[in-house]
Formats: sequence, structure tokens, C-alpha cells
Amino acid sequence: MNGTEEIGCCGAYCGTCREYQKTCKGCKPGYLDGSRDLCRAKCRMKKCCLTRGRVTCGDCVEYESCEIIQSFLNHPGYKYGKYKQALEYIRTHGHAAFLKAAEHWTSAYGKYPEQNSK
Ligand code: SF4
Ligand code: SF4
Repeated sequence: MNGTEEIGCCGAYCGTCREYQKTCKGCKPGYLDGSRDLCRAKCRMKKCCLTRGRVTCGDCVEYESCEIIQSFLNHPGYKYGKYKQALEYIRTHGHAAFLKAAEHWTSAYGKYPEQNSK
């Protein structure tokens, strides 16, 4: 695994979350190897994203016009803005840069390096 399994389809990041490390299964693990059943997943983004073989919705050609992801990201609340920022960051900089930025986060979202430093 190159770490992208820890990026939620919606842009939430599981990797550094304590609950994830202890008890939570996270967004993706198990679906890719078949030990969890995607048909039983409740999240529409996850179902769609993994069915299409995308890493995140930000990697999908329909991202900007997709009602499923856009209505999720446009919920009121700070975290949704941060998930949107995550997907936009991935679209611009790629997964590796996102994972590097997320290395020291302590929750599902966090800060990014300055725009002009790579
Ligand atoms: S909301 Fe859906 S896509 Fe986002 S982390 Fe949870 S299960 Fe994954
Ligand atoms: S952006 Fe929409 S169509 Fe694309 S994978 Fe996500 S939910 Fe599916």
C-alpha cells in the first residue's frame, strides 16, 4: 500500500486518527481485498468512488458536477470545508503531496505547507 488507502473518498484523512489505529476500520480498508462488502456500505461517495476504482472523489472526472460529493462538501460546518480543501489539494498536487502534508495531523484534517513551498 502506498498510503492512499488512508485517504477517505471524501477527503477525510484516517491515517493519524487514534480511533482508526485502535478500533475504527476506516473508510477503505477491507473493501479493496474483499473482506468487507461494498454493497453493505452506507456511504454513497465510498460506494461510487470505489466502484469506479478512484482513490478519492477528487480523482474523478465528474468531481465538479457530481451532486453526491458536492452536496456533502457543501454541508455547513468547518470540517466539510477542510475535506473540500483536501480534495482540491489532491487535484492540484497529487496523493503523495497530500500524504506528506497529512503526516503529522492528529485528526481527519489539518494544515498544508505554504503554497510556494513544495
Ligand atoms: S464519509 Fe464516506 S467517503 Fe468519507 S470517510 Fe466516511 S465513509 Fe469514507
Ligand atoms: S465524484 Fe461523484 S461520481 Fe465521482 S466517484 Fe465521487 S461520488 Fe462518484
